[in-house]
Amino acid sequence: MALLQIAEPGQSPKPHQRRLAVGIDLGTTNSLVAALRSGVTAPLADAAGEVILSSAVRYHADRVEVGRAAKQAASSDPLNTILSVKRLMGRGVGDVMQLGGQLPYRFSEGESQMPFIETVQGPKSPVEISAEILRALRERAEAVLGGELVGAVITVPAYFDDAQRQATKDAARLANLNVLRLLNEPTAAAVAYGLDRQAEGVVAIYDLGGGTFDISILRLTKGVFEVLATGGDTALGGDDFDHAIAGWILGQAGASADLAPGAQREVLKLACDAKERLTTEDTVELSYAGWQGVLTRDTFHDLIDPLIARSLKSCRRALRDSAVELDEVHAVVMVGGSTRVPRVRELVGEMFGREPLTDIDPDEVVAIGAAIQAETLAGNNRDGEELLLLDVIPLSLGLETMGGLMEKVIPRNTTIPVARAQEFTTYKDGQSAMMIHVLQGERELIADCRSLARFELRGIPPMVAGAAKIRVTFQVDADGLLSVSARELASGVEASIQVKPSYGLTDGEIARMLEDSFQKAGEDKAARALREQQVDAQRLLEAVEAALAVDGDRLLDEEERDAIKVQMQALRELLDSPDGIAIERQIKRLSQITDAFAARRLDSTVKAALAGRQLNDIEE
Ligand code: ADP
Ligand code: MG
Repeated sequence: MALLQIAEPGQSPKPHQRRLAVGIDLGTTNSLVAALRSGVTAPLADAAGEVILSSAVRYHADRVEVGRAAKQAASSDPLNTILSVKRLMGRGVGDVMQLGGQLPYRFSEGESQMPFIETVQGPKSPVEISAEILRALRERAEAVLGGELVGAVITVPAYFDDAQRQATKDAARLANLNVLRLLNEPTAAAVAYGLDRQAEGVVAIYDLGGGTFDISILRLTKGVFEVLATGGDTALGGDDFDHAIAGWILGQAGASADLAPGAQREVLKLACDAKERLTTEDTVELSYAGWQGVLTRDTFHDLIDPLIARSLKSCRRALRDSAVELDEVHAVVMVGGSTRVPRVRELVGEMFGREPLTDIDPDEVVAIGAAIQAETLAGNNRDGEELLLLDVIPLSLGLETMGGLMEKVIPRNTTIPVARAQEFTTYKDGQSAMMIHVLQGERELIADCRSLARFELRGIPPMVAGAAKIRVTFQVDADGLLSVSARELASGVEASIQVKPSYGLTDGEIARMLEDSFQKAGEDKAARALREQQVDAQRLLEAVEAALAVDGDRLLDEEERDAIKVQMQALRELLDSPDGIAIERQIKRLSQITDAFAARRLDSTVKAALAGRQLNDIEE
């Protein structure tokens, strides 16, 4: 049955005028592409009627295979079949080697510290592998929609950092896809439910997939979504439910838990089937290696309740992070295949004190939201309204300042796009260049933060220390990409850099850095105070040294000079000491003893200046 498209005259563009745009959920295990067709936004199916594309890529000598067939070859052709490539996106060789123990691939290192997987077709980067998935989705969409796409909105996890977002964009470029926007997965899910058109308030997005759990807290104000906080667990998902059931089966069957890989896959498959059946049935009958038994929902709940409890703990932490009270949350959206498990819905509902939204298929909800956003960005919307979607940065961004300290310019959880400027000054007289070191992290000392980029601002006109005004501007665009520029305000000299690190932080690193910063806050404060004393001491020593060189002989007698030198030496000896209080005391001593000298210098310069003035006046 064909449906007529109903539109008010003059309000909707005619079909042939519509610019074809799609939304893509580029997932760890599964990917989808969705678009608006005949007034309904829905996933697009392949020739066989499947909407879900397994995120699996298999390299043959002469072709590339993507999807379910590739996934099935994972055990027979492990070296050439890549699963879960999303976990490698934007990661460096070091990060990947950490995961490497569990991965069956042969890795090699590229020029830019990027990891490559050795396949029959040669080395392949995660970006290229991801591009194969995107290409398959683009071809599907063009076949179904009957034309070339103007672009796509591609979703990424809210916690994806700069490098991971950039890698996703690069993959799209390789797949010949124009990226209209990268969109956070939770935001897409909220858009799919039309929450952007509802009353203002706070929304929680609970996303439990196969291997990962993400919680995001969004606030909607005047049609604008702002991500207040994100959290989760990169090693928690439906796979863990499978493992729990598999362990139970092996225990019941009296079998050893130490299995060969093939046998392990078999029992996991059995467990996964049982889990999915328990979504609609109360009990399932099982048989394994001669053992026969029944798994009830109650037993299943005993097995998975601790896992669900872990996800709820992350939810509470995210709520705390976003400074939102539980009763402010007015909608909870369920995303990811594992939220089909009724027990998950029940416990999440209990925690938030409200029924979660489950009407839209949890596998499709992200792609659908992305497609809705793509329609708007492609300019197809009747009223031309543009939904502004705001996200947050996961870690603070800042600069190195004197003494190896991190000065935060944009604090974490700031919504993007954002631009922030801060003024800095020179440290030495006549300093003509300044190194700008861009960092990411929560700790006070740069050694504990992550270096993102360095660049130099040259051509600063010679001025006394502290007189130059250098404005450094941090800008994070809507895709979450950072650029930094520095400008000397008097001369207008400028330098800038687009920060594209060759690899990004792992989620584990982010979690660890945050944890560290909370634990070490006290320790850091002391370290910061000490560094500041050391910098002050150094600065004072240099200033006194310079003054002595110019006016020491003229304005001081020998005894005065020696007294100053003794105190200078005492301070110098304390420079590397960990005793901030001793340094502070010695700074005071040296300042006091040089006070009279400073006064005499000031006096003599004022006199000189007045003398100069009079001279000028006379000449005129
Ligand atoms: P990801 O986001 O990691 O790509 P998905 O959102 O596709 O993953 O979720 C996959 C997980 O959902 C798997 O663990 C799968 O077993 C589980 N799942 C899918 N359907 C059901 C179901 N009907 N009942 C329970 N779990 C299910
Ligand atoms: Mg998912």
